[in-house]
Amino acid sequence: MPRVDLSVPFSEKDEARSLGARWDARRKVWFVPDGVDPGRFGKWFILEPEINLRASSYFVVEAAAMCWKCHESTSVVSFMLPPGYEVFQFGEFDGERTLPGFWSTMPDPTIVHYVEHIPPAVADRAMQVKRNYQRNFSKTTSSAYWMNHCDHCGAKQGDFFLHCEVDGAFQPWEEEDAARMVLHACAGPFEGYASWAMFGDFFMGSMQRR
Ligand SMILES: [Zn+2]
Repeated sequence: MPRVDLSVPFSEKDEARSLGARWDARRKVWFVPDGVDPGRFGKWFILEPEINLRASSYFVVEAAAMCWKCHESTSVVSFMLPPGYEVFQFGEFDGERTLPGFWSTMPDPTIVHYVEHIPPAVADRAMQVKRNYQRNFSKTTSSAYWMNHCDHCGAKQGDFFLHCEVDGAFQPWEEEDAARMVLHACAGPFEGYASWAMFGDFFMGSMQRR
């Protein structure tokens, strides 16, 4: 069974400890140790985490897209997480109560989209590659997320167009598509709140590295 992390307010830490929760000093989070029934910790289950993705390293991935507005070619960026990244799986309602969510490790890389939250260090790394990668509001999704803007005219380049369309800039179908993409290796951990998809191998080996 996957490890269950808990969201314990500081003022309730002694209560959590007395019930058998343990403190993970590295991740700075309380959790239910193996062999202990998580049921008694229900009030601290994480139902809506601030982050749903994390990895010990990551890449800023750069591609090219044609701007829908001025039809010039513009650079676009996103984040690629290597195999071994972790995803927060939300707990399901079993008819009586919501089961605890948990982190699970993914075997294949992913490119994330609709990035709603990233820490400043991760945002800075992307902006080193593309200075106008900025948080903006999307009418399509009625939400704010980190978005690419055209290098020439500044128009928003929405993630649906880049990530979800069949010929999107971040959808390499052949090795030659992948060979046009550039991976910028980033030291340090990634964490964030974003959408992700299990795509299997992305021809990572064919991509350029900087
Ligand atoms: Zn443009």
